[in-house]
Amino acid sequence: MTDEKKKEQGTETLTVPLLPLRDIVLFPESVMPLFVGRTRSMAALETSLKTARSAHDRIVALSVQKEATTEEPGPEDIHLVCTLGVIKTVMHLQNKMMKVLVLGKRRGRIKRFVSVKDWDKPLPPEVGVEPWLVEVEPFETTDDLNLEPKGEDEKQLKSVTSIFAEYVKYSSRLQPEILDKVEKIPDDARRIDIMAGYIQLKSKDKQALLAQESLKKRLELLLKLLKTEVDILRMQKKVKGRFKNPKEMRSAQASHRMRHSAQDEMQEELRNELMELEERLSEKPLTEEAKERVKGELRKLRTMSPMSAEASVVRGYLDWMSHLPWQTYTEDRININEAENILNADHYGLEKVKDRILEHLAVQKLTDQPKGPILCLVGPPGVGKTSLARSIARSTGRDFVRLSLGGVRDEAEIRGHRRTYIGAMPGKIIASLKRCGTSNPVILLDEIDKMSNDFRGDPASALLEVLDPEQNGTFVDHYLDLDYDLSQILFVCTANNLSGISQPLLDRMEMIRISGYTDYEKSAIAKTYLIPKQLEANGLAKYEPVDKRDKKGRRVQEKGAKITFDDEAIKKILENYTREAGVRNLERAVGTCCRKAAILLLKKIEEDIIEPENKSKNTENSDEDVLAKTKERRREQLEGRTLRVTQKRVREFLGIEKYKHREQEKENKVGLTHGLAWTSVGGEVLVTEVALVPGKGKLTITGKLGDVMQESAQAAMTYVRSRATALGLARDFYNRLDIHIHVPAGGTPKDGPSAGITLATSLVSALTRVPVRHDVAMTGEITLRGQVMAIGGLKEKALAAYRQGITTILMPAENEKDLEEIPNSIRSEMTFIPVENVDEVMKHALALEGTELLLADLSDAVVDILDEVAPVRKASVSPDEGPPASGVH
Ligand code: ADP
Repeated sequence: MTDEKKKEQGTETLTVPLLPLRDIVLFPESVMPLFVGRTRSMAALETSLKTARSAHDRIVALSVQKEATTEEPGPEDIHLVCTLGVIKTVMHLQNKMMKVLVLGKRRGRIKRFVSVKDWDKPLPPEVGVEPWLVEVEPFETTDDLNLEPKGEDEKQLKSVTSIFAEYVKYSSRLQPEILDKVEKIPDDARRIDIMAGYIQLKSKDKQALLAQESLKKRLELLLKLLKTEVDILRMQKKVKGRFKNPKEMRSAQASHRMRHSAQDEMQEELRNELMELEERLSEKPLTEEAKERVKGELRKLRTMSPMSAEASVVRGYLDWMSHLPWQTYTEDRININEAENILNADHYGLEKVKDRILEHLAVQKLTDQPKGPILCLVGPPGVGKTSLARSIARSTGRDFVRLSLGGVRDEAEIRGHRRTYIGAMPGKIIASLKRCGTSNPVILLDEIDKMSNDFRGDPASALLEVLDPEQNGTFVDHYLDLDYDLSQILFVCTANNLSGISQPLLDRMEMIRISGYTDYEKSAIAKTYLIPKQLEANGLAKYEPVDKRDKKGRRVQEKGAKITFDDEAIKKILENYTREAGVRNLERAVGTCCRKAAILLLKKIEEDIIEPENKSKNTENSDEDVLAKTKERRREQLEGRTLRVTQKRVREFLGIEKYKHREQEKENKVGLTHGLAWTSVGGEVLVTEVALVPGKGKLTITGKLGDVMQESAQAAMTYVRSRATALGLARDFYNRLDIHIHVPAGGTPKDGPSAGITLATSLVSALTRVPVRHDVAMTGEITLRGQVMAIGGLKEKALAAYRQGITTILMPAENEKDLEEIPNSIRSEMTFIPVENVDEVMKHALALEGTELLLADLSDAVVDILDEVAPVRKASVSPDEGPPASGVH
């Protein structure tokens, strides 16, 4: 066989330039246009063209790269089974690229890459860059080109050919003539090749066809691939057939595309979201446990359909995880002096409270741990509990979050819902950490006494875990379902009343009591804190002034228009518009005044008139001096732009007075006693009335009294009955009377044991017809034997009594130690009488002057209900006083 012949048949090993293809496979018998841009590829083409002895000799090896993006492929980057092709035409394009038409000739196997110096041909001088050269050995011989005649394979080839015909029929790209061309090819292998070249397949599949050595297997593979392609085309045709005209089809396609594109967009968005989430999570200093969990959840999420409900639950979880402040701490900077300054700057008075807070901070600084008891600020609303907690945060440099526990009755609100629950969320503690963004904030657990429990579990026990330094390092929120360290959080609680708090919770906490303020304190708070704060809040301190000029007409920089409050005005607000232990309503009223004053001031500035003060007085008095003074003041007012909030303006701004200063009863009355109560809004004076009507010993108690107070009434009654003889009452007086105890005051629910002595006093007064002193108020629990027992909230009660104009307070002797809490200004104006038993109470409370009742004997009286009825001694009482008392003669 000659060399030429050998070459023709592909039985010779050749060294030829290589043209690596990025994503295309060329089959023998196929013609393909190629755009060539790589310099070494162009050099390969040039070399082939320049070294060829004839047109048939312009041979290059064409092999597809394993990765389309590889720029400089080496032996390992290309598929070794390649096609040897002949360059048909070459065109140089303007953009330094070449377009070539190549005809595939036969398969070859690349043996090795050859360097130019080892090539038997010299590199043409025009070729600047070394081309790739490869040694290609034959892959197939002429004997391999045909299937067994009349065998199964031939039948299969026939069916492939007929399926190919169908493919051509469906394809808009291929002309029917190519079927003739295929028919005319003599060799089976080439026929298979040309069909493989025509159908549209992935380059991976095409390379598999090219590299398949066994012709039989190649045929099988082609049949399989071709069938799939035809199925797809057939389906497309069917879909098209459903639409009567192309317009309809286009619109259907458009809506389908739109649906798809909306879906695609959403999926794209979700993918981006997932990426963001992963990035956020990777930046978080998660704990080891959280890291593992996140990894697992992310893995789960990737396998889910992004739009499914489960995926959104997992995404929600991961979103929470990514927004929580894992191990992110603010640095504590406790400086006791600074903390003291901050507390003083924000709050008037409260010396003891501030001291306790400073002590707490000092201990914390020394131990470097917020362990130890939790501070609980207890007091009526508006006394500054929240703002004290805020100051604690400010002085420690921690973030501050307020978490309201009022009305929390479900354990899950503290501990979160398990994720299986629809709409599950973490509990309030974890949620507030997310809100503040650090792991060691000051968390204010507000109104801890307003938490209640029901069938959904006890939130107090969950809270106990949160507050327990032994347990809160590994707090497990049901939603997160992993340990979260709460031990660095500084918890501060507030409560109005301790009675609503469970004992275990109480044990965790250190109580700091804040009772209400006196009017004097309130007025000081208003002047130094509330008014400046409200002016600022309403933009008044910053109000830019009108243009002001001095006498020479020069512009003067002015600080701002001013609103001032007269002392009398503040007093009026306190007396007629607020009645509270704290200063919340006071602050609100001050705010209203500021806003109304601002409107007035602006109006006046616009009109440039400010009415002279005391207009009426000035018109009445036309004295020259006074007129001049008025003018002067008027000018000042115009220049300074000051608006004074006077008593009169308070009435204008706040409307009808809500509280008239209740005239203190001037008269002593039978059966009417002033008691002192301590409610969640501070101290209160409660009037207790007792009336007697003929009857059969029924005791009626009205006025929305709680169980404890009802019991106190019973105890008081028993006491009075046991003292019947000494009090000069008929032994069976109660059999002939119905007794009605009523505690009016607005139908507000009242409870607590401290009304005992008040009720007893009213009863005794009504029964003996000795009036009760109007200037005395009292508080104290009562035992059946008439002992007076300790009560709470003496300071609040004293403040309330003082506001009401009462001058004497009867209090349990056991509470004497609490007297020092009461401001001196009040102690000096009131008389506090400590009492040990009810007999003493009677002595001080009843207006005994002029009566015949000798209570002095009382303490000696031995009760013996079997004794004879003591003679009844009549008290001197005005005839119209009290209802007829049939038991008293
Ligand atoms: P609480 O939490 O006790 O209900 P707040 O802390 O909300 O009360 O106080 C209500 C308002 O009264 C706040 O604006 C607070 O700054 C102010 N306030 C209360 N007590 C004082 C005080 N002693 N000095 C200055 N302002 C006070």
